Amino acid sequence: MKTIDNYNFHDKKALVRVDFNVPLDGDFNVTDTSRIEAARPTILKILEDGGSAVLMSHLGRPKGKRNPDMSLGHIADKVSEIIGVQVKFVEDSIGDKVEQAYANLDSGEILLLENLRFYEEEEQGEEGFAEKLAQFGDVYVNDAFGTAHRAHASTTIVARYFPENKCFGYLLAKEIKAIDKVMQTGEKPVTAILGGAKVSSKITIIENILDKVDHLVIGGGMTYTFVKAKGGKVGDSICEDDKMDLALDILKQAEAKGVQVHLPVDVLAADDFDNNAKTQTVAVNEIPDGWQGLDAGPKTLDIFKEVILKSKTILWNGPVGVFEMESFAKGTIAVGTFVDEATQNGAFSLVGGGDSVAAVKQFGFQDKVSYVSTGGGAMLESLEGKTLPGIAAIMA
Ligand code: AMP
Repeated sequence: MKTIDNYNFHDKKALVRVDFNVPLDGDFNVTDTSRIEAARPTILKILEDGGSAVLMSHLGRPKGKRNPDMSLGHIADKVSEIIGVQVKFVEDSIGDKVEQAYANLDSGEILLLENLRFYEEEEQGEEGFAEKLAQFGDVYVNDAFGTAHRAHASTTIVARYFPENKCFGYLLAKEIKAIDKVMQTGEKPVTAILGGAKVSSKITIIENILDKVDHLVIGGGMTYTFVKAKGGKVGDSICEDDKMDLALDILKQAEAKGVQVHLPVDVLAADDFDNNAKTQTVAVNEIPDGWQGLDAGPKTLDIFKEVILKSKTILWNGPVGVFEMESFAKGTIAVGTFVDEATQNGAFSLVGGGDSVAAVKQFGFQDKVSYVSTGGGAMLESLEGKTLPGIAAIMA
């Protein structure tokens, strides 16, 4: 794997795809700087070698049109503050203005290009646009994991114009290593904790990881499709009736592959999808009509705890309850505590994909697990076993 450490950027200009798709408030202040901070080590390495960096990113969904509200100019000062170097912002991504700024770029300097998605060619992965971007670097560095699952001009196609001089930045390299550690080289027992709302959105992940894990812990809204398929009563719980055959098939496949599946045995059920609803703990297969399971019950958490604490490699994707409501967040917090404890005991733990990262951050577990992925969709596709085009383009 060619990473930024394989290069000395002395007197070189690096074209770096970063993910600066950060949230802005009404006054265009950056409200969460984690993505900028995540790109910092890569940018600093280039500058410390004596090179310069041309940063390109998207911001929001301008759909191919210039939209001043989504200008990367809004974040230039924040980037300067975090990197510690005054960033030069240019109001375009290609063309004369960029050419001029690029020609004047000295070692130690940073140029930030305008939002790539002001051009529809970006998301179309148009070659001509990629070729124009490719003018602005001696080396191409991809450090944007969040868009690595997209074959866009700046994430994938541009790499063609750097057949020898392309590499992963630190962040992308870290993501690839973390996924590898779970999916290929993880120490056994390997456990996947899968939660979230629906079986249908996780099915490809489940099928892919059955070949890699020893234990599969299933929680969250997905539970009830499995329980009903096995003949249980799930009351008004979220359930995909058309996925019941699939659920039974997954259980059969797991058995054939020697994977132990751990489903909830009890749940905290509520008489409404509301934080103030009446609640009771009931057996997972005896949920009365008018009640819905919204969190894992105590016996379930005991089982999950035992499995998680004996694991050496842990993947966690999806909350085990409706964590957005305080009354139904306890299960997800408990699972976070178990993963924290296992990690302290030496396990490698990766949290990623969709809402799991939000849950982990909300409850302050981000520093207690081994790695929190920065890419929602990109992580889900990696777990599904897909080769991400942005990664393949650097490997080619
Ligand atoms: P996902 O993006 O697939 O990981 O799903 C995350 C969502 O699943 C969160 O918004 C949770 O509120 C939701 N969820 C978890 N458990 C349940 C449940 N028992 N019933 C309904 N929704 C749930």
